[in-house]
Amino acid sequence: MNRKEIAEGLKALGLKNGSIVLLHSSFLSLGKVENGPGEVIKAFLDVIGRKGTILVPAFGQLGVLVDEVKRLPGAIVSSCPVGCVAAYGPAAKELCKDHWKAETAHGKDTPYTRLAEKGGFICLLGVDQDRNTSLHSIEALLELPYLRTVTKTFKNPNGKEVTQSYKFYPGPHRDFIGLDRLLLDSGAMKIRRIGNAQVRMIESAHMFDVLLAAGRDCPDLVLCNNPECADCVRQHAAIYADEMEREAFQLTVSSRLAGRYIPEMIENLKRQGIRRIELDYLQGKICASLPAEKLAAAVRELKADNIEVTGIRLPVIPDEPEKLAEKLRQAEIGRVVMPLAGSAKAVKVLKKAGLTVSLYNAAQTAKGAALEFAGIRKKDPDTLFTFDAANFVKAGEMPFLYSYRVGRFGKVVGQLDVADCTWDGAPAALACGNAEIKELVSILRCRNFSGYCCLGGGSVYPGDLNEAAENFRILLKNM
Ligand SMILES: [Zn+2]
Repeated sequence: MNRKEIAEGLKALGLKNGSIVLLHSSFLSLGKVENGPGEVIKAFLDVIGRKGTILVPAFGQLGVLVDEVKRLPGAIVSSCPVGCVAAYGPAAKELCKDHWKAETAHGKDTPYTRLAEKGGFICLLGVDQDRNTSLHSIEALLELPYLRTVTKTFKNPNGKEVTQSYKFYPGPHRDFIGLDRLLLDSGAMKIRRIGNAQVRMIESAHMFDVLLAAGRDCPDLVLCNNPECADCVRQHAAIYADEMEREAFQLTVSSRLAGRYIPEMIENLKRQGIRRIELDYLQGKICASLPAEKLAAAVRELKADNIEVTGIRLPVIPDEPEKLAEKLRQAEIGRVVMPLAGSAKAVKVLKKAGLTVSLYNAAQTAKGAALEFAGIRKKDPDTLFTFDAANFVKAGEMPFLYSYRVGRFGKVVGQLDVADCTWDGAPAALACGNAEIKELVSILRCRNFSGYCCLGGGSVYPGDLNEAAENFRILLKNM
């Protein structure tokens, strides 16, 4: 390869006189270049001319071509302790100005976004999207929830030591190479061989348009889907948690669905970005019948990992509610979810002991449940209803079209059990049975329901928490 051939290749990729270009490169990828690396940069300067400006990353990923640019007379380095660039040409100063003062390392008021504003190019010479630092700009501009803040102490351009924080700073693993196809198909990028090197030339502003739109729709755009990638599992979880934070309702999960043992439950909940649990079963045993110390230890373990226990669920009315109340006091559990039928006496005792009670329909019709519940509310207006849609299906009713309306449960509902089943009582995935879960969630969402939605509450889920949570997110996205 010689300077002329390289210049021709760059022109064919769209670079022209006056262009601004940010170059990420591997000199070795070109193969043999006559007169060495200096010729490659000269080829760029031949094409962009005196009016053009070239930038190179001046952090971490260094190389001989970076050194060549830094050595050009008058080249400057943007003064930022993270994500700095070296630049040469008439636009260099403007592109690099006060990079260190920006709120983020790659977002607004940084060389990366300014390059796009000025209609510049990004050239990946013999390297792939993994090296395309401007993709971090996309993440920062989207303010993705998995990004973090870094704080650095450094000398600013005036030589004064300053401490500055940069928001929306990228984490470890990324699947930037997965964006190649999208950039090519959208016309934002051209690929061509120069010598041995695959060279990608990207119109930066076009890339921003395409990826910002894609990222708004799909905030995990740059994350990988490898379940063994701990970085991306954690980053996905941050996105899920952020999505749920925007809901008025509070998502909780039945412990039976979360896992068998406490550490397993914690791990599974964290993967899904969920921080609440309803205790029904632990190691296959009914939580309420565990010895007090064991129950207390389980709650402590969950709380230590910032998981909130939203209540304990009883399969039957307790024979000795006083004893249960004492056990729950020791375990620091403040809320009981139990069957409505025949609960009046137990409710009175539990309430007296300072517990919050929510009652669910079991083998009851909506009319029967509404009548009984009204009786309890008369004595205790604070008692709330846990709407178990699957149980209404088992009672032969359409939970939304019939039960919810006939029972007028909208006024008293404090929890929706998010589980589904078919008319024969067999558990089904969400919105794959007859429980009209989608309709129920939707109507509660319409009135900013701030109670609990309990995933897997009161039912066996035909799959694990990953599946259930994924299905629930899909359900929410599609309404
Ligand atoms: Zn990953």
